[in-house]
Amino acid sequence: MRKIFAFALAALLLLAGCGFRGGIAAPSTVEPAVTTTAPATTPPPRRYNGIAEGDVIVGELTFYCDCAKCNGVKYAGVTADGIVLADVAPGDYSVAGANWLPFNALVDVDGTVYRIADRGGPGLNQVGRLDIYTPEGHEAALTLGRVYGAEVRIVTLPGG
Ligand SMILES: [Zn+2]
Repeated sequence: MRKIFAFALAALLLLAGCGFRGGIAAPSTVEPAVTTTAPATTPPPRRYNGIAEGDVIVGELTFYCDCAKCNGVKYAGVTADGIVLADVAPGDYSVAGANWLPFNALVDVDGTVYRIADRGGPGLNQVGRLDIYTPEGHEAALTLGRVYGAEVRIVTLPGG
């Protein structure tokens, strides 16, 4: 009886672990380009505050790391939706902050897909403004500076 209980607990923990990893492995879950010849069956793009999947927006980018200078002491190291930034290895998946998109929206900037996992000051309210997490650290973020006129494509919006 005790053995069965231990097995059930292990299975439960395994399931919980899978769920969490699935939630953050954003780039690998991006759907491939649809090449079907039956557009009538394609669901309409999801929308959020007038922004639709597939929209291309002229954006403005800034860059940040997980330090207290970039986030304030209270929020250093953790995104607004609870991701520990130190666990994000370069090339693992990419995180960006914005206030005009929901959490888990995916955006493509120059071929890199970012998952919206963070929020920021009022500057990030502006449509197209993204603060991009830079795992290489504070100096790297400063060096990247500010990029105007970036092409931001809305890949997917959550829900639906
Ligand atoms: Zn920093």
